[in-house]
Amino acid sequence: MTTPTPEPLAPWTDALVCPLDRTQLVAEGAGWRCPACGFASASTVVEGAARPDFRALDVAQDAAYTFRIPVAPLDREAVARDYFRAVNADFPHFSRAEVRRQFGTKLDKGIQYYCQQLWRERGAAARILDLGCGQGGNRRYLRSLGFEHVVTTDWIAPGADMLVDAHRLPFADATFDLVISTAVFEHLYNPYLAMHEIARVSQPGGYFLGSASFWEAWHGSSYFHLTPDGWHALLSANDMQLVDLWPGWGIIPAALTHVLTPGYLRGVGYALQSAVEALYRLALGERGVRRLHLRASGAYVVCGKKQISGLAGERISSGRAAEHHK
Ligand SMILES: [Zn+2]
Repeated sequence: MTTPTPEPLAPWTDALVCPLDRTQLVAEGAGWRCPACGFASASTVVEGAARPDFRALDVAQDAAYTFRIPVAPLDREAVARDYFRAVNADFPHFSRAEVRRQFGTKLDKGIQYYCQQLWRERGAAARILDLGCGQGGNRRYLRSLGFEHVVTTDWIAPGADMLVDAHRLPFADATFDLVISTAVFEHLYNPYLAMHEIARVSQPGGYFLGSASFWEAWHGSSYFHLTPDGWHALLSANDMQLVDLWPGWGIIPAALTHVLTPGYLRGVGYALQSAVEALYRLALGERGVRRLHLRASGAYVVCGKKQISGLAGERISSGRAAEHHK
């Protein structure tokens, strides 16, 4: 596969802020500089192409966090009854194999549903952040819908227009109508801090579409694998509402792919999963299948929405007194 070409950041200049103190950045030479603290973007070569790098790797992050416990868990019956909406809706969409072949990504039916919903609500002008973009296939899908303003970011990946740290995003408050982050959250050190940042850069009413592995405990470096209640807690702690939830893939193909055998048995896993679900459907109805998915899935996918009222207050002050590593 050829290395994707990063897009110029010119359309995002107004939204670029210092990851350390959120002062608006100014262009300087080929990069950006913070007039307040002197932070300057670096340039890092990824697979032969230089990317602007806003991770501030030499500056430690200093975060204070205030939170309330307990968060009430999701109501199991309500989830089985009210969620799974997007994946059960009838609308034109790409199959998993088609979306992979055409765009080089794994966006599932549910994510396609809410991307199309955003298109109806906001059209081409919507501003979208792909957080953890990998090869950048999500943007190719979003462009096919007509979206024009998509910025791709990653810790380090060839599809990224810019390299960022999800725990201190270099974007101004309320910049985005959608933050999409697929198969990323299990790789983050501090999911609460990252979700706080996502909420901060989201417009009121903006969407969050995210997936995280539940089952594959040891793939790459992964730390916090999310359950449905885990997603609910992350979102609700940041004034985001869990709008919908569904399984990314079943526990059986996930187990066959990641635990018992190499990936070539994935297809067998999908077939076995379908057979088990058919039995559950016969015996317990669609609700029974949903309860099965809520007990265990390979991954969970969510749609969240930032509350129109916005953040109730600044819960985290991040990096305001950033100190250099000793
Ligand atoms: Zn600064």
